[in-house]
Amino acid sequence: MKDDLSRLKKKVEDCRKCKLWKTRNKPVFGEGSDNAKIMLIGLGPGYHENLGGRPFVGAAGKLLTELLTLAGRQREDVYITNIMKCYLPNNRPTEKQIKACTPYLNEQVELIKPTIIMPLGNIANRYIFNKFQLPLAPIGKLHGKILSISTLLSQATIIPMYHPAAALRNPRLKDIIKIDWKQMAQALNNE
Ligand code: SF4
Repeated sequence: MKDDLSRLKKKVEDCRKCKLWKTRNKPVFGEGSDNAKIMLIGLGPGYHENLGGRPFVGAAGKLLTELLTLAGRQREDVYITNIMKCYLPNNRPTEKQIKACTPYLNEQVELIKPTIIMPLGNIANRYIFNKFQLPLAPIGKLHGKILSISTLLSQATIIPMYHPAAALRNPRLKDIIKIDWKQMAQALNNE
C-alpha cells in the first residue's frame, strides 16, 4: 500500500490536468500515517504549504495541531490532505478544477481506508457529502455532527468541522471549534 501511495504521489507531482500546475511551487499530496483511522481533508494548499509541499503548516496548521492535541491525537496519528493538491492563489477552485483533482483524493481514501473522515470547511464538506450521498447543509449547521455511512465495502463515520482558517478570520469561532473537537474526541472515546 505504501508503494501504491508513492505511485499516486508521483502522479500528482507530474499532474497537469488543470491550470493550477502553472502556479504551484510544490504540490501538496498529504502526509501522516498510511494506516490512519482518521483522515482530515482541507481545501487546498495556501502560501506556506505551496512553498514546503506539506499540508497545514501555516497559522491554520498550527491551530489544527492544537485541535488534534485537544482531541488526544498527534499529527502523526492521522492522515492530513486536501481536496485540491496545487496552490490556490484565490482560495476558490472552479468546479472543473475540483472534478480534475478529486480522483486523487478518492484514491487516497481507497488506499488508506480511514474509518473517520473529517472534511474541514464548506468546500471539502460539500465534496464529501456529495460523494457519500449525505444531505448537504452549510458547515455552520453541520459542524461537529457525527454521521455514520455504509458503503458497499465498509462502514465509516463522517465528522464535518469548520476549517481552522475560519477561526483566524473570525476569532469568535475559535471557542466553538475547540468545543467541537473536544466533544468529537469524547464521543469517539466512548464508542
Ligand atoms: S490541482 Fe490537481 S488536477 Fe490540477 S494540476 Fe494540481 S494535481 Fe493536477
